[in-house]
Amino acid sequence: MPYKTQKGTKYAVLYNEGFRRVKYALGSYADIIPEYEQMNKPKELFFRYKANVCEMCGAYVPAVKVYQVKSMSDLDVNTEWGAIMNKKKRKTLVVCGDCYDRIHK
Ligand SMILES: [Zn+2]
Repeated sequence: MPYKTQKGTKYAVLYNEGFRRVKYALGSYADIIPEYEQMNKPKELFFRYKANVCEMCGAYVPAVKVYQVKSMSDLDVNTEWGAIMNKKKRKTLVVCGDCYDRIHK
């Protein structure tokens, strides 16, 4: 296909021969560009969340919630959760529903 540039006409070849059929499942990583795949590792919070253990009362619950502050300076270390988060040096705290309600009272 010809196209014009300041230095004259150039040609670009468009691919028009279809794509080979892939017979196996690609899995969940199908959309991840290979050069970024090495950076697509689950973060620490992922494992804390998946553990389903409240970080305040230690209870194992089927579903946890995540309490989060914007910055460490927003933490009130005088609260029970603030002290835990300050000790962990984390802006997030994985908690059970009861503790979450207690924080947001
Ligand atoms: Zn709890």
